[in-house]
Amino acid sequence: METGRIVRRGILAFSLVVAVALLFIDPGSGRRMQSAGAALIDADFPLSSLSASTLSGDSQLEEASLLPTVKLLAVEPGDTLAQILVDEGAASKEAHAAIEMLKKIYNPRDLRSGQEIEVTFQPSPDGLGGARFMGLSFEPDYAREISVKRGEDGSFSAKEAKKPLKHEIVRADGRIDSSLYEAAIKAGLSNNVLTTMVRVLSYDVDFQRDIQEGDSFSVFFERWFDEKGQPVHDGDVFYLSMTLSGKPLHYYRFKAADGLIDYFNQKGESVKKALLRTPADGARITSKFGKRNHPILGYSRMHKGIDFGLPTGAPIQAAGDGVVEMSGPNSGYGNYLRIRHTNGYATAYAHLSAFAKGVRVGKRVSQGQIVAYVGSTGMSTGPHLHYEVMVNGKQVNPLSVRMPSGRKLAGKELDQFNQAKLVTDKKMAEAPSIGKLAETKQ
Ligand SMILES: [Zn+2]
Repeated sequence: METGRIVRRGILAFSLVVAVALLFIDPGSGRRMQSAGAALIDADFPLSSLSASTLSGDSQLEEASLLPTVKLLAVEPGDTLAQILVDEGAASKEAHAAIEMLKKIYNPRDLRSGQEIEVTFQPSPDGLGGARFMGLSFEPDYAREISVKRGEDGSFSAKEAKKPLKHEIVRADGRIDSSLYEAAIKAGLSNNVLTTMVRVLSYDVDFQRDIQEGDSFSVFFERWFDEKGQPVHDGDVFYLSMTLSGKPLHYYRFKAADGLIDYFNQKGESVKKALLRTPADGARITSKFGKRNHPILGYSRMHKGIDFGLPTGAPIQAAGDGVVEMSGPNSGYGNYLRIRHTNGYATAYAHLSAFAKGVRVGKRVSQGQIVAYVGSTGMSTGPHLHYEVMVNGKQVNPLSVRMPSGRKLAGKELDQFNQAKLVTDKKMAEAPSIGKLAETKQ
């Protein structure tokens, strides 16, 4: 029943089901009964190490063929649950009956690519004909398990089970020997926490140049553990600090009066700057600001911006809040967008393939909003983003210009922030530092 769309990740006969099934198999045959205990498989038993022989010794081949089989499948892009079930051998009517029940507690359209699903089948007792679809189960997130099972009357019912988890606020400390990434893994941080850390630090830290051996960090965040004490999920990061060449940087998570959640330094200044130095994700600099030989004109000329190597169609974000000042073809710049910000700052984006919907002169845009797409229009040798920052109409180096600061807390809000900061400092001093724990599953 293998199809191209579905990855069969392994087949295992399931612990309790196996045990129960074995107890009821053909008592009249006089063969020795398999004891329930021997057939029990720990739920955490690695799937890869399960083989058919685990379950069927020589004398038990016949029994094994009657055991319910559980197939572990992974959802692939474009799959629907009904297709997956039918492809695996469920009758279309039965697959739909099960899905109808599932829909009462979970929308199957929310299944993501990569989600694993266990599907159970019962082989027909006479060994002839197809196996009977018995149900399915999956864990849509770290806290829930959803299952649909066939009852004795043949109908399906769906159930959601919350996993018993323990919530704790923990602290991790690390020292950088080679890279921040390696130090983070060593300190027991998950990808979730590391991503937050990088995002917050990226406004102030150049990861390639600023980080040295011996630099250190601390993170204070929430973590969920399963019944065995294994970490299963990390949530919000409440505080983080990074010490670069002996100089500490501190960031506190704070929800401001308007409901916006942001990270602020000890003085209550937002980590976010009014302008982004890099207005696109995953961009690498291919040409810096300054004198260079122009790739098309061939002679030395001032490069008044930064080029970022990006594929055609990659989204470009507004570097800051502002108003669109120009959008359209602009000679060698090709399709060109300029946004006016406050305090005499403006940013420009050139060689665009297209503008985002609604981006035209006079329109307000906000920081991070997608405003255009990378292209190679105008005088350009290949797709890239040419990005300029202007102060009072003059281009400056986006990498070294002092970016205007973002939001600063003041008055009552600053008082509240200072209160929250004290509480966080106190709690963090008390929290035990986690060592390297088992890898956290996200
Ligand atoms: Zn350029």
